[in-house]
This record gives sequence, C-alpha cells and structure tokens, in this order.
Amino acid sequence: MFRKFHIRVAVFCTFMTSIIMISMSALYMIPSESNMRENEYAAFLNDVHMMVTTLENQLILSNEWIARMERGGMYIISILDNGNPILYEELVHSPRRQEVVEAARSMAIRDYGFSPEETLFLTRVTNFTLDISRGRQYYVSAVLIPREAGVLQVFIIYSLESLQRQIVNQRVTLLMLNLVGIGLLGVFSYFFTKKMLEPLKKSRKQQTEFIASASHELRTPLAVIQTSLSALEKADEEEASKFYNAIESECERMSSLISDLLALASTDNYTLSTEMKELELDTLLLDVAEKFEILAKEKEITISVDLPPHKVPPMKGDENRLTQVFAILLDNAVSYSPVGSEIGLSIEVLKSKIQVSVVDNGIGIPEEEKDKIWERFYRVDASRKSGKHFGLGLPIAKEIVHLHKGKISVKDNPKGGSTFVVTLPI
Ligand code: ADP
Repeated sequence: MFRKFHIRVAVFCTFMTSIIMISMSALYMIPSESNMRENEYAAFLNDVHMMVTTLENQLILSNEWIARMERGGMYIISILDNGNPILYEELVHSPRRQEVVEAARSMAIRDYGFSPEETLFLTRVTNFTLDISRGRQYYVSAVLIPREAGVLQVFIIYSLESLQRQIVNQRVTLLMLNLVGIGLLGVFSYFFTKKMLEPLKKSRKQQTEFIASASHELRTPLAVIQTSLSALEKADEEEASKFYNAIESECERMSSLISDLLALASTDNYTLSTEMKELELDTLLLDVAEKFEILAKEKEITISVDLPPHKVPPMKGDENRLTQVFAILLDNAVSYSPVGSEIGLSIEVLKSKIQVSVVDNGIGIPEEEKDKIWERFYRVDASRKSGKHFGLGLPIAKEIVHLHKGKISVKDNPKGGSTFVVTLPI
C-alpha cells in the first residue's frame, strides 16, 4: 500500500514541478524568440538602408558589389534597370532564385501597391515578410530609385532560414534540458518522498504492532474468564469461589490494560487531559511512597525517601499524572527487586529543574535493553508475565514526563540494580 502511495506522490511531485519548469521555459522562450526576430529585422533594415544609399549614389553597378552584398546567399538582390534585368541577373539566374523574386514582386504589386511604371522623384521603400511555403520565409524590401533616365527597381530579399534554424536549435536545446530536468526531478522526487514517508511508514508499523500486541494481551485474560465461566457450571462451592476470584482478577487485569491503552492512545492523539497546577513534588513523592508501603512490606522491602534540607520549590504539573509516573517506577522497583532489598527515592533541586531518582537493588537492566524498555509492550524477560505488567508502564511514564517538558532515563545503580531519573522543569 505504501509503495503504491509512494509512487503516486513521487509522480505527482514530478508532474507538478515539471509543469512549473516547462512553463518557466516557455516564459523564457517566447520573449527570447521575439527578441531574435526583432534583432534580425533591425539588422535587415540596416542593411537595406546601407544598400539603398549606395545604389542611390552609384551610377554604375558592379557585379562584385552586388555579389558581396548577397553575402554568399543570405541575400537575393534583384535589380531591373528601367524594367530590364541587369547583367548580374543573367549571371546568377536559377529557377529557385527566380521563384523567390517573382513571388516577392507579385506580393509587392498585389498587396503593397508597388508600381514600377510610376514617375518618381524620391526613393520609395516598401518592406514586408514573404511566406513562400512552410519554413521558407523572407524579409523583402521592394525599392524604387528614381534615376536620370528612368527608374531602378530593386528587390532586397533576406532569407530567414538561419533565424528559423536558430529558433529550432534553441527549442530543441530547451526541450532536451527539460527532458533531462524531468528525469532528474523524477529520481529526486522518488528518493525525497521515500525519505518523507519513512516516519509515516514507521508510525503505521508501530500502530499495527501495537494493535496486535494489545489484542494478544487482551485475549489471555478473556480466555481465562471464558474457561472459568464454563468450568463454573460443574464446580462445587469451594471451586466456584476459586473461579470467581480468577474472573475478578482477570477483569481487573483487563481493566488496567485498557486504561493503559487508552492513556497511550490519548498521548498519540494529543488528547491526554492534563490539569496543570502548582504542586509540591516532595509531598507528592511522600504520598506515592506511602501508598507502596504495604506492597513493599509483602516482600520485606524498605522504601526510603531522601529530601533536600531546604524546601523544594513548587512546580507546575498534573498531580494525578505525575503520581502515575512515580507509581509506575516504584511498582517496577518493587516488582524487579528481591525480597529484603531497599528502594530509595531522592529529590535534588538543580538550577531550573527538579531531579527525582528512584534507586533499587533489583535485577537491573542489561545495557543493550536500556533503549528498548521504553517501547510499547517491551519486556526484558518476555516470558515473565505477572499481574499488571504488560510492558506499557515505562512508555506511559515517558509520555507523561514529555508532556511536562521533562526527561526520563535509566542507568545502572553502582551497588547493583537500576536508577530511574526523572527531570522536570520548575
Ligand atoms: P512492565 O509493566 O512489564 O514492568 P514497563 O514498561 O514498566 O513494563 O517496563 C518494561 C520492562 O523494563 C520490564 O518488563 C522490565 O523488564 C524492565 N524494567 C522496568 N523497570 C525495571 C527495574 N526497576 N528493574 C529491572 N527491570 C526493570
């Protein structure tokens, strides 16, 4: 599913960026081509002006001069003296040249009122563009120059072939650049979107695993309840009370698991309700420690609370949520410590934060497991399933501490066991 989505996003990104790139190229190409045409036309007018001025002042037209003006075929210069072709015309005659000159002449007469028979006192220049066929375009200047004896009819015809070739070259270059650009964009989009989708993919995988683990954990108490209920039918009074107790304890387990799941779901949706109020962390810790005394006594564990000599400054926090954090840590400390050991709670006031440590002499956490214990449903010893230990305590504690903009970490207790450290801002 993600692969399909990834490819779709990559194609969409490439498509959108390609459209932008092609539009930008077109925006560059249109004025650039019109600029090229304008420059070419200005150069043509300049040449025409120079040629006409020379023709006006030259009595004898040399073939060399005309050949030079034609610049190796860029120009066709056709001159009729009183309607008669000059010698040059006959020397360079070719059907193609004739065709272009004839077309220019007919267009000049038909569309621009060019009349060679007219009596003139001043030179008359008529400029236009001639289209013979697709790709064969010319700028034409039809000129009538009055002479002492009659009139000089001049057609200066400039082929736009080289301009058109230049334009085509520019278009092909831009097209190639666009194609290469689109290819590169495609590759870039593919890898970029892949990178972008990775967190989403990871979160979806985590969610699926979370649901699978939650369902698995819920199935165990349900199975116990189901078998206890069916066994109840044939059970005597003594057995029945055993089954009722089992059902009650499994219901309690389920309810505790469900509230843990709901707490985590709320943190994921940013909907975990908190009531931030000013509170005294030392008082809160003493209360939590007191609640765990009975449980600790069952294992002959002593809980000591070490408070600083000066009053602990008040801090802003959610009393119930922070109680939950320290209850999780104390519950773990009691659960993973041997009979007769000691658990120490201590508070240290630092510059702008309060640090609470929960130290035990229990089984400790191997180095390679220290990062994993914060993952949902992770238990160092997965086979050790007891009571309400589903591997959700530390992830919940971590979320609550982060909600308070604090930090939680674990390290080894030098005397054996673990030390959990919670740092909260004042
Ligand atoms: P659980 O409900 O199983 O205790 P937690 O998320 O609270 O889940 O803890 C995850 C795992 O980290 C536990 O299963 C246990 O293996 C390990 N752990 C947590 N606290 C301690 C501790 N004080 N001493 C040793 N191991 C601990």
